[in-house]
Amino acid sequence: MSLELELKEILEELKTYFEFQKTLGLEGIVVERKKKEETIQVPIKGKIQTEVEKEKPPASIKVQEQLSIFDAGAKKLTLEEIREEIGECTRCKLHQGRTNIVFGEGNPKARLVFVGEGPGEEEDKQGRPFVGRAGQLLTKIIAAMGLKRSDVYICNVVKCRPPGNRAPEQEEAGTCEQFLFKQLRSLEPEVIVCLGSTAAQSLFKTKAKLGDLRGKFHTYGRSKLLVTYHPAALLRNPGFKKPLWDDMQIVMKELGLSTRPGD
Ligand code: SF4
Repeated sequence: MSLELELKEILEELKTYFEFQKTLGLEGIVVERKKKEETIQVPIKGKIQTEVEKEKPPASIKVQEQLSIFDAGAKKLTLEEIREEIGECTRCKLHQGRTNIVFGEGNPKARLVFVGEGPGEEEDKQGRPFVGRAGQLLTKIIAAMGLKRSDVYICNVVKCRPPGNRAPEQEEAGTCEQFLFKQLRSLEPEVIVCLGSTAAQSLFKTKAKLGDLRGKFHTYGRSKLLVTYHPAALLRNPGFKKPLWDDMQIVMKELGLSTRPGD
């Protein structure tokens, strides 16, 4: 039997085992425990919240890069190879309403990567990430950091537009996020900025609140990861502008960019 078939069998057995455990009331498995406040849980299915998250905000979270068992030992793919692998994807139901797959764009050697939730109407039309109103705001934020869009890389958790700009469902994000993981493995940036909680949930498998995750670096593989508000949230609530800019200053400091206006 080939290694791939053996692994598939093991996965099937694990799935059956966890589904059985779930019927007995198990909600998740602990994947990391350093200090009590760093405990996180990976949901088997459905929403969970750890005791720690209920008690107090989580400290910095550290996770290995997320990859499927089939990709763990595989070579790093180029962005072009990942796009080829996606093809004319029909892996989840979001393909039904899309005009274009929005893969991501920017510098393949970017030190900084922004990860959003999914394409909106304008992104779906143009096949480019963050080009609508929220995208224009992100472009301004990038410029205020002293960078251009072509200096960074921008992508989303799901590559096809959820209807009515709703948040991606768990199954949709869970199906598509494998491509984000591969993109991050290919890019291996110094800093990843998660724009909004969907991206943070994909990378950390945590249900902690965005307000509790932001304002500090976490670790994703070899990259530092910071969670902040989605620019669309700023359009709805300008009160988020100051905390978002505080977060960007943390990123700028890490990348050695000037945080003094006018420099
Ligand atoms: Fe495929 Fe992702 Fe589009 Fe779903 S959202 S159809 S998984 S590319």
